[in-house]
Amino acid sequence: MKKTAEKCSFCGKRKEDTLILISGQDAYICENCVEQALTIIDEELGERKHSNAATAAPEYKTPEEIKGFLDQYIIGQDDAKKVLAVAVYNHYKRLNNVGKDDVEIEKSNIMMVGDTGTGKTLLARTIARFLNVPFAIVDATVFTEAGYVGEDVESILTRLLQVCDYNIQAAEKGIIYIDEIDKIARKNDNPSITRDVSGEGVQQGLLKLLEGTDVLVPPQGGRKHPEQKMVKMNTTHILFICGGAFEGIDKIIAKRNKTHVIGYKSDKDRDKLDRGNLIQYVTPQDIKGFGLIPELVGRVPIVTYLEPLDKESLLRILTEPKNALVKQYKKLFDLENVQLTFDQEALEFIVEKAVEYKLGARGLRSICEAIMTDIMFTIPSKKDIKEFTVTLALAQEKIDKSKLRHLKVA
Ligand code: ADP
Repeated sequence: MKKTAEKCSFCGKRKEDTLILISGQDAYICENCVEQALTIIDEELGERKHSNAATAAPEYKTPEEIKGFLDQYIIGQDDAKKVLAVAVYNHYKRLNNVGKDDVEIEKSNIMMVGDTGTGKTLLARTIARFLNVPFAIVDATVFTEAGYVGEDVESILTRLLQVCDYNIQAAEKGIIYIDEIDKIARKNDNPSITRDVSGEGVQQGLLKLLEGTDVLVPPQGGRKHPEQKMVKMNTTHILFICGGAFEGIDKIIAKRNKTHVIGYKSDKDRDKLDRGNLIQYVTPQDIKGFGLIPELVGRVPIVTYLEPLDKESLLRILTEPKNALVKQYKKLFDLENVQLTFDQEALEFIVEKAVEYKLGARGLRSICEAIMTDIMFTIPSKKDIKEFTVTLALAQEKIDKSKLRHLKVA
Protein backbone atom coordinates (compact mmCIF):
# COMPACT_ATOMS: atom_id res chain seq x y z
CA MET A 1 0.00 0.00 0.00
CA LYS A 2 1.31 3.43 -0.93
CA LYS A 3 1.97 5.75 1.95
CA THR A 4 -0.50 8.60 2.13
CA ALA A 5 0.68 12.22 2.04
CA GLU A 6 2.82 13.21 4.96
CA LYS A 7 0.20 14.16 7.49
CA CYS A 8 -0.91 12.81 10.85
CA SER A 9 -3.14 9.84 10.26
CA PHE A 10 -5.02 10.60 13.50
CA CYS A 11 -5.76 14.33 13.41
CA GLY A 12 -4.95 15.02 9.77
CA LYS A 13 -2.43 17.80 10.52
CA ARG A 14 0.06 18.35 7.73
CA LYS A 15 3.73 17.72 8.38
CA GLU A 16 4.66 21.40 8.29
CA ASP A 17 2.06 22.14 11.02
CA THR A 18 3.57 19.62 13.47
CA LEU A 19 6.76 19.64 15.52
CA ILE A 20 7.40 15.97 15.00
CA LEU A 21 5.65 13.59 12.68
CA ILE A 22 6.51 9.99 13.43
CA SER A 23 6.16 7.63 10.58
CA GLY A 24 4.89 4.07 10.92
CA GLN A 25 4.34 1.37 8.30
CA ASP A 26 1.40 2.97 6.53
CA ALA A 27 0.67 5.87 8.80
CA TYR A 28 2.00 8.92 10.65
CA ILE A 29 1.37 10.31 14.08
CA CYS A 30 2.06 13.84 15.36
CA GLU A 31 3.36 14.82 18.78
CA ASN A 32 -0.06 16.04 19.87
CA CYS A 33 -1.71 12.74 19.11
CA VAL A 34 1.08 10.84 20.86
CA GLU A 35 0.45 12.92 23.94
CA GLN A 36 -3.27 12.32 23.74
CA ALA A 37 -2.73 8.61 23.30
CA LEU A 38 -0.50 8.65 26.37
CA THR A 39 -3.24 10.27 28.42
CA ILE A 40 -5.66 7.58 27.35
CA ILE A 41 -3.14 4.88 28.25
CA ASP A 42 -2.53 6.47 31.64
CA GLU A 43 -6.21 6.70 32.36
CA GLU A 44 -6.82 3.11 31.36
CA LEU A 45 -3.85 1.58 33.09
CA GLY A 46 -4.04 4.05 35.94
CA GLU A 47 -7.54 2.86 36.63
CA ARG A 48 -6.39 -0.70 36.52
CA LYS A 49 -3.54 0.17 38.86
CA HIS A 50 -6.04 1.83 41.11
CA SER A 51 -8.33 -1.16 41.23
CA ASN A 52 -5.31 -3.34 41.92
CA ALA A 53 -4.50 -1.05 44.78
CA ALA A 54 -7.94 -1.71 46.19
CA THR A 55 -7.12 -5.37 46.38
CA ALA A 56 -3.42 -4.92 47.00
CA ALA A 57 -3.86 -2.78 50.08
CA PRO A 58 -2.45 0.67 49.62
CA GLU A 59 0.72 1.38 51.47
CA TYR A 60 -0.77 4.26 53.38
CA LYS A 61 -2.38 1.82 55.75
CA THR A 62 0.48 1.92 58.19
CA PRO A 63 1.15 -0.75 60.79
CA GLU A 64 -0.23 1.62 63.42
CA GLU A 65 -3.42 2.12 61.48
CA ILE A 66 -3.77 -1.62 60.97
CA LYS A 67 -3.31 -2.23 64.68
CA GLY A 68 -5.71 0.57 65.51
CA PHE A 69 -8.36 -1.17 63.44
CA LEU A 70 -7.64 -4.53 65.04
CA ASP A 71 -7.95 -2.93 68.48
CA GLN A 72 -11.59 -2.12 67.76
CA TYR A 73 -12.48 -5.78 67.38
CA ILE A 74 -9.89 -7.82 69.25
CA ILE A 75 -9.17 -7.58 72.93
CA GLY A 76 -5.56 -7.83 74.12
CA GLN A 77 -3.12 -9.87 72.02
CA ASP A 78 -0.99 -6.78 71.54
CA ASP A 79 2.13 -8.64 70.49
CA ALA A 80 0.30 -10.64 67.86
CA LYS A 81 -1.41 -7.52 66.57
CA LYS A 82 1.88 -5.65 66.21
CA VAL A 83 3.69 -8.53 64.54
CA LEU A 84 0.80 -9.08 62.19
CA ALA A 85 0.41 -5.40 61.35
CA VAL A 86 4.08 -5.06 60.45
CA ALA A 87 4.15 -8.31 58.49
CA VAL A 88 1.07 -7.42 56.51
CA TYR A 89 2.30 -3.89 55.87
CA ASN A 90 5.62 -5.21 54.62
CA HIS A 91 3.91 -7.83 52.54
CA TYR A 92 1.88 -5.29 50.62
CA LYS A 93 4.83 -2.92 50.38
CA ARG A 94 6.77 -5.74 48.83
CA LEU A 95 3.90 -6.40 46.50
CA ASN A 96 3.74 -2.80 45.34
CA ASN A 97 7.48 -2.78 44.87
CA VAL A 98 7.81 -5.88 42.71
CA GLY A 99 10.34 -5.42 39.92
CA LYS A 100 11.19 -1.87 40.92
CA ASP A 101 14.71 -2.63 42.06
CA ASP A 102 16.98 -5.57 42.60
CA VAL A 103 16.44 -6.08 46.31
CA GLU A 104 13.79 -8.71 46.54
CA ILE A 105 11.89 -8.58 49.78
CA GLU A 106 10.89 -12.04 50.87
CA LYS A 107 7.34 -12.98 51.58
CA SER A 108 6.40 -12.76 55.23
CA ASN A 109 3.98 -15.62 55.82
CA ILE A 110 2.93 -15.71 59.44
CA MET A 111 2.55 -18.44 62.07
CA MET A 112 0.26 -17.83 65.03
CA VAL A 113 0.52 -20.11 68.02
CA GLY A 114 -2.17 -20.01 70.66
CA ASP A 115 -4.98 -21.91 72.33
CA THR A 116 -8.18 -22.44 70.47
CA GLY A 117 -10.63 -19.57 70.83
CA THR A 118 -8.03 -16.91 71.58
CA GLY A 119 -8.65 -14.90 68.42
CA LYS A 120 -6.33 -16.28 65.72
CA THR A 121 -8.98 -16.57 63.04
CA LEU A 122 -10.55 -13.33 64.14
CA LEU A 123 -7.22 -11.52 63.73
CA ALA A 124 -6.63 -12.87 60.24
CA ARG A 125 -10.20 -12.17 59.18
CA THR A 126 -10.21 -8.65 60.59
CA ILE A 127 -6.96 -7.71 58.86
CA ALA A 128 -8.27 -8.98 55.53
CA ARG A 129 -11.44 -6.98 56.01
CA PHE A 130 -9.51 -3.82 56.80
CA LEU A 131 -7.34 -4.23 53.74
CA ASN A 132 -10.28 -5.20 51.59
CA VAL A 133 -8.53 -8.21 50.13
CA PRO A 134 -10.05 -11.61 49.38
CA PHE A 135 -9.82 -13.87 52.40
CA ALA A 136 -10.32 -17.59 52.80
CA ILE A 137 -10.08 -19.92 55.77
CA VAL A 138 -9.03 -23.49 55.29
CA ASP A 139 -8.53 -26.29 57.73
CA ALA A 140 -5.24 -28.12 57.34
CA THR A 141 -6.76 -31.36 58.58
CA VAL A 142 -8.94 -31.85 55.50
CA PHE A 143 -5.95 -32.16 53.23
CA THR A 144 -4.31 -35.39 52.40
CA GLU A 145 -1.57 -36.41 50.08
CA ALA A 146 -2.60 -36.88 46.48
CA GLY A 147 -3.93 -40.38 46.12
CA TYR A 148 -5.62 -40.50 49.51
CA VAL A 149 -9.23 -39.73 50.29
CA GLY A 150 -9.56 -36.05 51.09
CA GLU A 151 -8.77 -32.78 49.43
CA ASP A 152 -5.69 -31.79 47.49
CA VAL A 153 -3.86 -28.79 48.86
CA GLU A 154 -4.57 -26.93 45.63
CA SER A 155 -8.20 -26.65 46.67
CA ILE A 156 -7.05 -24.05 49.23
CA LEU A 157 -6.81 -21.71 46.27
CA THR A 158 -10.25 -22.71 45.07
CA ARG A 159 -11.74 -21.20 48.21
CA LEU A 160 -9.94 -17.94 47.59
CA LEU A 161 -11.10 -17.87 43.98
CA GLN A 162 -14.66 -18.51 45.07
CA VAL A 163 -14.77 -15.63 47.54
CA CYS A 164 -13.77 -13.15 44.85
CA ASP A 165 -15.99 -14.51 42.10
CA TYR A 166 -13.12 -16.11 40.25
CA ASN A 167 -11.26 -12.84 39.81
CA ILE A 168 -7.81 -14.40 39.55
CA GLN A 169 -6.02 -11.07 39.79
CA ALA A 170 -7.71 -10.24 43.07
CA ALA A 171 -7.27 -13.75 44.44
CA GLU A 172 -3.56 -13.62 43.74
CA LYS A 173 -3.27 -10.81 46.27
CA GLY A 174 -5.47 -12.30 48.92
CA ILE A 175 -4.88 -13.72 52.36
CA ILE A 176 -5.35 -17.38 53.26
CA TYR A 177 -5.71 -18.50 56.84
CA ILE A 178 -4.68 -22.11 57.35
CA ASP A 179 -6.14 -23.31 60.61
CA GLU A 180 -4.94 -26.29 62.64
CA ILE A 181 -1.57 -26.37 60.94
CA ASP A 182 -0.27 -28.17 64.04
CA LYS A 183 -2.43 -31.19 63.19
CA ILE A 184 -0.30 -32.04 60.18
CA ALA A 185 2.86 -32.26 62.24
CA ARG A 186 4.93 -35.40 61.94
CA LYS A 187 3.61 -38.00 64.29
CA ASN A 188 6.79 -39.29 65.80
CA ASP A 189 7.83 -35.85 66.98
CA ASN A 190 4.58 -35.31 68.72
CA PRO A 191 2.87 -38.17 70.49
CA SER A 192 -0.39 -36.26 70.94
CA ILE A 193 -1.18 -36.41 67.24
CA THR A 194 -3.27 -39.37 66.26
CA ARG A 195 -3.72 -38.60 62.58
CA ASP A 196 -2.68 -41.35 60.33
CA VAL A 197 -2.37 -40.22 56.73
CA SER A 198 1.11 -38.83 56.76
CA GLY A 199 1.01 -35.18 57.67
CA GLU A 200 4.39 -34.84 56.11
CA GLY A 201 3.02 -35.40 52.61
CA VAL A 202 0.57 -32.58 53.15
CA GLN A 203 3.34 -30.38 54.47
CA GLN A 204 5.31 -31.06 51.30
CA GLY A 205 2.25 -30.15 49.27
CA LEU A 206 1.81 -26.91 51.14
CA LEU A 207 5.43 -25.94 50.60
CA LYS A 208 5.09 -24.99 47.01
CA LEU A 209 2.00 -22.92 47.65
CA LEU A 210 3.69 -21.02 50.44
CA GLU A 211 6.83 -20.17 48.54
CA GLY A 212 5.03 -18.85 45.48
CA THR A 213 4.54 -20.72 42.28
CA ASP A 214 2.10 -21.29 39.45
CA VAL A 215 -0.55 -23.74 40.53
CA LEU A 216 -3.29 -25.36 38.49
CA VAL A 217 -6.43 -24.92 40.51
CA PRO A 218 -9.67 -26.86 40.12
CA PRO A 219 -12.19 -23.97 40.06
CA GLN A 220 -14.92 -26.10 41.59
CA GLY A 221 -12.58 -27.71 44.08
CA GLY A 222 -12.24 -31.28 45.16
CA ARG A 223 -11.77 -34.28 42.97
CA LYS A 224 -15.44 -34.65 42.26
CA HIS A 225 -15.33 -32.83 38.97
CA PRO A 226 -12.57 -34.50 36.99
CA GLU A 227 -13.78 -32.83 33.78
CA GLN A 228 -13.37 -29.25 35.02
CA LYS A 229 -10.89 -27.00 33.28
CA MET A 230 -8.07 -26.00 35.63
CA VAL A 231 -7.19 -22.35 36.07
CA LYS A 232 -3.64 -21.17 36.58
CA MET A 233 -2.96 -19.13 39.66
CA ASN A 234 0.27 -17.74 41.01
CA THR A 235 0.75 -17.78 44.76
CA THR A 236 3.76 -15.46 44.98
CA HIS A 237 1.74 -12.57 46.39
CA ILE A 238 -0.75 -14.49 48.46
CA LEU A 239 -0.14 -14.02 52.14
CA PHE A 240 -0.49 -17.17 54.18
CA ILE A 241 -1.30 -16.91 57.85
CA CYS A 242 -1.12 -20.22 59.67
CA GLY A 243 -2.54 -20.92 63.08
CA GLY A 244 -2.62 -23.72 65.55
CA ALA A 245 -2.87 -24.53 69.25
CA PHE A 246 0.35 -26.59 69.18
CA GLU A 247 -0.67 -28.34 72.35
CA GLY A 248 2.40 -29.36 74.28
CA ILE A 249 4.75 -26.90 72.61
CA ASP A 250 5.33 -25.27 75.98
CA LYS A 251 7.31 -28.35 76.99
CA ILE A 252 9.55 -27.89 73.96
CA ILE A 253 9.99 -24.20 74.81
CA ALA A 254 10.77 -25.04 78.43
CA LYS A 255 13.34 -27.60 77.39
CA ARG A 256 14.99 -25.23 74.95
CA ASN A 257 15.17 -22.45 77.50
CA LYS A 258 16.71 -24.66 80.08
CA THR A 259 19.44 -25.89 77.79
CA HIS A 260 20.04 -22.41 76.48
CA VAL A 261 20.30 -20.84 79.82
CA ILE A 262 23.05 -23.10 81.03
CA GLY A 263 26.39 -21.66 80.20
CA TYR A 264 25.71 -18.04 79.57
CA LYS A 265 22.83 -16.94 81.69
CA SER A 266 22.63 -16.87 85.40
CA ASP A 267 19.92 -18.59 87.38
CA LYS A 268 18.57 -15.15 88.13
CA ASP A 269 17.88 -14.53 84.44
CA ARG A 270 16.25 -17.87 84.07
CA ASP A 271 13.82 -16.97 86.79
CA LYS A 272 12.75 -13.99 84.77
CA LEU A 273 11.02 -16.35 82.33
CA ASP A 274 7.28 -16.19 82.78
CA ARG A 275 6.84 -19.90 83.37
CA GLY A 276 3.07 -19.66 83.44
CA ASN A 277 2.97 -18.42 79.88
CA LEU A 278 5.82 -19.97 77.98
CA ILE A 279 4.10 -19.64 74.65
CA GLN A 280 5.29 -16.03 74.40
CA TYR A 281 8.83 -17.31 73.84
CA VAL A 282 7.90 -19.50 70.89
CA THR A 283 10.38 -19.55 68.02
CA PRO A 284 10.49 -21.25 64.60
CA GLN A 285 12.83 -23.77 66.20
CA ASP A 286 10.08 -24.88 68.58
CA ILE A 287 7.64 -25.25 65.70
CA LYS A 288 10.18 -27.50 64.02
CA GLY A 289 10.56 -29.44 67.23
CA PHE A 290 6.82 -29.93 67.26
CA GLY A 291 6.99 -31.76 63.95
CA LEU A 292 6.63 -29.30 61.12
CA ILE A 293 9.28 -29.92 58.50
CA PRO A 294 12.13 -27.39 58.41
CA GLU A 295 11.33 -26.31 54.84
CA LEU A 296 7.80 -25.42 55.85
CA VAL A 297 8.96 -23.59 58.96
CA GLY A 298 11.38 -21.67 56.74
CA ARG A 299 8.54 -20.52 54.50
CA VAL A 300 6.60 -19.14 57.43
CA PRO A 301 9.31 -17.02 58.96
CA ILE A 302 7.23 -14.80 61.19
CA VAL A 303 6.10 -16.46 64.37
CA THR A 304 3.84 -14.91 66.96
CA TYR A 305 1.68 -16.08 69.81
CA LEU A 306 -1.70 -15.45 71.35
CA GLU A 307 -2.11 -15.30 75.08
CA PRO A 308 -4.56 -17.54 76.86
CA LEU A 309 -7.64 -15.51 77.76
CA ASP A 310 -8.17 -14.90 81.45
CA LYS A 311 -11.47 -13.90 83.07
CA GLU A 312 -10.73 -10.24 82.74
CA SER A 313 -10.10 -10.53 78.98
CA LEU A 314 -13.23 -12.62 78.52
CA LEU A 315 -15.28 -9.98 80.30
CA ARG A 316 -13.85 -7.34 78.02
CA ILE A 317 -14.54 -9.51 74.96
CA LEU A 318 -18.13 -9.76 76.08
CA THR A 319 -18.62 -6.02 76.36
CA GLU A 320 -15.97 -3.95 74.61
CA PRO A 321 -15.33 -4.78 70.93
CA LYS A 322 -17.33 -2.91 68.32
CA ASN A 323 -19.41 -6.01 67.74
CA ALA A 324 -19.30 -7.33 71.33
CA LEU A 325 -22.03 -9.84 72.14
CA VAL A 326 -23.61 -7.62 74.76
CA LYS A 327 -23.75 -4.76 72.27
CA GLN A 328 -25.35 -7.05 69.70
CA TYR A 329 -28.09 -8.19 72.09
CA LYS A 330 -28.73 -4.62 73.15
CA LYS A 331 -29.09 -3.62 69.52
CA LEU A 332 -31.49 -6.48 68.83
CA PHE A 333 -33.67 -5.44 71.77
CA ASP A 334 -33.37 -1.83 70.75
CA LEU A 335 -35.02 -2.73 67.48
CA GLU A 336 -37.97 -4.02 69.54
CA ASN A 337 -37.95 -0.76 71.51
CA VAL A 338 -36.79 -2.58 74.61
CA GLN A 339 -33.89 -1.31 76.64
CA LEU A 340 -31.72 -4.25 77.63
CA THR A 341 -29.26 -4.23 80.52
CA PHE A 342 -26.96 -6.88 81.91
CA ASP A 343 -26.12 -6.79 85.60
CA GLN A 344 -22.40 -6.91 86.21
CA GLU A 345 -22.81 -10.14 88.24
CA ALA A 346 -24.62 -11.73 85.31
CA LEU A 347 -21.74 -10.86 83.00
CA GLU A 348 -19.23 -12.26 85.45
CA PHE A 349 -21.31 -15.41 85.72
CA ILE A 350 -21.25 -15.84 81.93
CA VAL A 351 -17.46 -15.50 81.95
CA GLU A 352 -17.10 -17.98 84.79
CA LYS A 353 -19.18 -20.51 82.89
CA ALA A 354 -17.05 -20.03 79.77
CA VAL A 355 -13.96 -20.76 81.85
CA GLU A 356 -15.60 -23.66 83.64
CA TYR A 357 -16.72 -25.31 80.42
CA LYS A 358 -13.26 -24.70 78.95
CA LEU A 359 -14.87 -23.05 75.95
CA GLY A 360 -12.76 -19.89 75.87
CA ALA A 361 -14.14 -16.88 74.07
CA ARG A 362 -15.94 -19.14 71.65
CA GLY A 363 -18.10 -20.34 74.52
CA LEU A 364 -19.36 -16.89 75.40
CA ARG A 365 -21.77 -16.99 72.51
CA SER A 366 -23.29 -20.39 73.37
CA ILE A 367 -23.70 -19.38 76.98
CA CYS A 368 -25.32 -16.08 76.05
CA GLU A 369 -27.62 -17.86 73.63
CA ALA A 370 -28.64 -20.34 76.32
CA ILE A 371 -29.59 -17.44 78.55
CA MET A 372 -31.17 -15.20 75.94
CA THR A 373 -33.14 -17.56 73.70
CA ASP A 374 -36.19 -17.81 75.99
CA ILE A 375 -36.21 -14.09 76.53
CA MET A 376 -35.90 -13.36 72.83
CA PHE A 377 -38.72 -15.81 72.24
CA THR A 378 -41.21 -14.04 74.49
CA ILE A 379 -40.24 -10.38 74.32
CA PRO A 380 -41.54 -9.59 70.80
CA SER A 381 -45.10 -10.56 71.77
CA LYS A 382 -45.05 -8.58 75.02
CA LYS A 383 -45.55 -5.10 73.71
CA ASP A 384 -45.82 -3.52 77.17
CA ILE A 385 -42.23 -4.40 78.15
CA LYS A 386 -39.95 -1.45 77.59
CA GLU A 387 -36.99 -2.48 79.72
CA PHE A 388 -35.37 -5.77 80.54
CA THR A 389 -32.50 -6.64 82.86
CA VAL A 390 -30.53 -9.85 82.78
CA THR A 391 -29.81 -10.52 86.45
CA LEU A 392 -27.50 -13.09 87.97
CA ALA A 393 -30.48 -15.14 89.16
CA LEU A 394 -31.99 -15.19 85.70
CA ALA A 395 -28.69 -16.16 84.08
CA GLN A 396 -28.19 -18.99 86.59
CA GLU A 397 -31.70 -20.26 86.10
CA LYS A 398 -31.40 -20.35 82.32
CA ILE A 399 -28.04 -22.10 82.38
CA ASP A 400 -29.30 -24.66 84.91
CA LYS A 401 -32.15 -25.46 82.57
CA SER A 402 -30.03 -25.52 79.43
CA LYS A 403 -28.28 -28.46 77.87
CA LEU A 404 -25.02 -26.64 78.29
CA ARG A 405 -24.71 -27.77 81.88
CA HIS A 406 -23.93 -31.25 80.57
CA LEU A 407 -20.72 -29.81 79.20
CA LYS A 408 -19.41 -29.39 82.68
CA VAL A 409 -15.94 -30.83 82.94
CA ALA A 410 -14.75 -32.57 86.03
P1 ADP B 1 -9.10 -19.32 67.20
O1 ADP B 1 -8.98 -19.11 65.75
O2 ADP B 1 -7.91 -18.83 67.97
O3 ADP B 1 -9.50 -20.71 67.60
P2 ADP B 1 -11.29 -17.48 66.96
O4 ADP B 1 -10.59 -16.31 66.37
O5 ADP B 1 -12.09 -18.30 66.01
O6 ADP B 1 -10.28 -18.40 67.74
O7 ADP B 1 -12.19 -16.99 68.17
C1 ADP B 1 -13.49 -17.47 68.38
C2 ADP B 1 -14.39 -16.33 68.76
O8 ADP B 1 -14.07 -15.86 70.06
C3 ADP B 1 -14.25 -15.11 67.87
O9 ADP B 1 -15.15 -15.13 66.81
C4 ADP B 1 -14.56 -13.98 68.80
O10 ADP B 1 -15.93 -13.77 68.90
C5 ADP B 1 -14.07 -14.45 70.13
N1 ADP B 1 -12.71 -14.01 70.47
C6 ADP B 1 -11.64 -14.81 70.66
N2 ADP B 1 -10.57 -14.10 71.04
C7 ADP B 1 -10.95 -12.81 71.05
C8 ADP B 1 -10.27 -11.58 71.36
N3 ADP B 1 -8.98 -11.56 71.74
N4 ADP B 1 -10.98 -10.45 71.27
C9 ADP B 1 -12.29 -10.47 70.91
N5 ADP B 1 -12.98 -11.58 70.63
C10 ADP B 1 -12.32 -12.75 70.70
